[in-house]
Amino acid sequence: MFDANKFLSTRVTSIPVSGISRFFDLAAERKDAISLSVGEPDFVTPEKIRAAAIAAINAGKTSYSANPGFIELRKEIAKYLTKFDLEYNPYDEINVTAGGSEALDIAFTAILDEGDEILIPEPAFVSYAPCALLAAGKPVAVPTSLENGFKLTAADLEKYVTPKTKALLFNFPCNPTGVAMTREEMQEVADFAIKHDLIVFSDEIYAELTYSGKHCSIASLPGMRERTILLSGFSKAFAMTGWRIGYVCAERTLLKEINKCHQFRLMCAPSIGQLAAIEALQHGEDDMKAMVDEYHRRRDYIVPRFRSIGFDIAEPQGAFYAFPSIQKTGLSSADFCEQLLLEKDVAIVPGSAFGASGEGFVRCSYANSMEKIKLALDRVEEFVQKF
Ligand code: PLP
Repeated sequence: MFDANKFLSTRVTSIPVSGISRFFDLAAERKDAISLSVGEPDFVTPEKIRAAAIAAINAGKTSYSANPGFIELRKEIAKYLTKFDLEYNPYDEINVTAGGSEALDIAFTAILDEGDEILIPEPAFVSYAPCALLAAGKPVAVPTSLENGFKLTAADLEKYVTPKTKALLFNFPCNPTGVAMTREEMQEVADFAIKHDLIVFSDEIYAELTYSGKHCSIASLPGMRERTILLSGFSKAFAMTGWRIGYVCAERTLLKEINKCHQFRLMCAPSIGQLAAIEALQHGEDDMKAMVDEYHRRRDYIVPRFRSIGFDIAEPQGAFYAFPSIQKTGLSSADFCEQLLLEKDVAIVPGSAFGASGEGFVRCSYANSMEKIKLALDRVEEFVQKF
């Protein structure tokens, strides 16, 4: 008898399925549920970006682009990144990818050898550890805590560094906590990376969604540019999740090998999406700012509302997530979310989906209308009365 299981790679089968997909499945069965569970903008891509893509299709621009992406787009990305005090050469330090997801995957693949350890601050975006495992690396969770405002410190990192540590994942503003770090706070992490001679994968996909001051890139700190691999993309800032356009920037020796992974796996990122991304960078800033203002308004509503319900919460200064503690209810985060969904038709994500240190918390995305957010929080308030 044919046994499909025996053919599968143990590297792949040993990776557990995402904790989030279970809740999507559960929520999908409940059509009237309000979902604060998704990690994507509730806006459609701005009209002028869509129009540029339609024009590109009508002009027949349907072939492959250059391997690392259209040079026009790489030049626009280089120009754009100067706003964060970053300088990358569009010819050999920028590679356009199929979303930030591919950027992450090829960067890990190019750096991690069998058994190399990568420090991943937790709670963390669900793809980091699986992508590290797929690249044959060894993810090492570094817990952060509410007491520390979910910020990462050198002291946290020192506890987990070993002679096998090769890299550190850095994601601020953070999915799932929404927490951002200041330049001063980043400095000690940069010092730690330099002291231990580590590569830093800096996932800055939420850079534009920063509500207090300007986003700081760890790559802009002294001595960090050469050891930072910057990962970003258009999905969140420009509401372009379905277009699959991201990018990875690094000094040229690193980028050359990262590009090799991209070349043999993807050939190139989607051409029409790249042309839309050029329009986003050239003319999309006002639309982007209007969306960011709206997320900001919702953030200012949701945080005090959770506090008034009695939940502790670290101030989310970025992204579109709030990560309140539900410990007072005595329920596990999975039970809390399941009961809330079944009793009140509100879908949010258990913190445990983001690693063990997410237990006791829930992730609420405010990428939904203010009206729905208010209704959802009214229901959360009713739900917690019984505890
Ligand atoms: N990084 C983080 C922290 C994310 O939250 C996401 C998406 O949710 C991504 C990367 C990947 O985004 P995309 O592949 O759409 O660019």
